Amino acid sequence: RPRVLSGMQPSGDSLHLGNYLGALVNWVKTQDDYQALFFIPDMHAITVTQDPEELRRRTRKTAAQYIAGGIDVEKSTLFVQSHVPEHAQLAWVLNCITGFGEASRMTQFKDKSAKGGQDMASVGLFTYPVLMAADILLYRPQGVPVGDDQRQHVELARDLAKRFNHRFGDTFTVPEAFIQKEGARIYDLQNPTAKMSKSASGPNGLINLLDDPKVTAKRIKSAVTDTGTVIAHDRENKPGVSNLLEILSTLTGKAVPTLVEEYEGKMYGHLKVDVADAVVSRIEPIRKRTLELLDDPAELDALLAHGAAKAREIAAVTLADVYAKVGFLPPV
Ligand code: ATP
Ligand code: MG
Repeated sequence: RPRVLSGMQPSGDSLHLGNYLGALVNWVKTQDDYQALFFIPDMHAITVTQDPEELRRRTRKTAAQYIAGGIDVEKSTLFVQSHVPEHAQLAWVLNCITGFGEASRMTQFKDKSAKGGQDMASVGLFTYPVLMAADILLYRPQGVPVGDDQRQHVELARDLAKRFNHRFGDTFTVPEAFIQKEGARIYDLQNPTAKMSKSASGPNGLINLLDDPKVTAKRIKSAVTDTGTVIAHDRENKPGVSNLLEILSTLTGKAVPTLVEEYEGKMYGHLKVDVADAVVSRIEPIRKRTLELLDDPAELDALLAHGAAKAREIAAVTLADVYAKVGFLPPV
């Protein structure tokens, strides 16, 4: 089976419905056709300031939600980046074959550092794409499923793989970026022209996997719609109703036009009740399972240790190859 690798930042306290339907559900699907590796990039997280206790808590919480959402730790490899030291070790070697100008052209650094000012941005943030290249190349995957915003970083990983192979002999697989087709895109309940987002949405705009079902139902029932009465799919003029229809369609597997037919003559309230029911019945088991996992941190940590051990089996082989090729004396 071809190998793929994906990671998602441990930002925020809970994944939201967009993270779940737009990303996690797709990850879960890849597990059967690919040898899938999923990691929580805590080393990337500290390229901006983090509260240590909070980072630890969120790392566990993110892992628990992945598992509860369907990542199977036997089928796939789930691990925390900092548990596999080869990521940092390979990153150093790759840093030494990356041009300063080349790294300077990465647009995410320009965007992120622009916010706080270049002088405030860390060298870690600057070299983030090189660590990401290490994350990828260590596992010699055929593909990296990423959003369009990560295209440039995967391109760097490809360039570094080719450069290393050229300079030191064939070592890395040159990975393809599997640019993901826009998965289900979920919009903010209160501002349905903007995507649901951990950082940009207010609490009432979000559907969180870990919220109490009553809160979730209430938020959906209070979702912004429009002054009309007809349930129709029209992103332009009825963004709120369209968002609800899309959510229901994704959860039930029914096509949007079919739903529109079913709701003919019904009121927005009917649709909201059904969306709330569908959402709650899908996410409630995930919430319960997440809380169970968090209740037993030792068990969760053991699952993550198991994942890290599986990841290291692959990573250590690649790193040993790299160290030998660049001329490091083996420590006997
Ligand atoms: P932030 O506001 O911090 O950027 P976010 O809510 O956008 O957070 P990310 O951590 O950036 O979430 O994204 C994690 C994954 O979830 C990505 O694969 C992203 O494409 C997906 N995703 C995020 N928001 C949505 C959404 N509203 N609909 C569908 N997919 C989404
Ligand atoms: Mg985002």
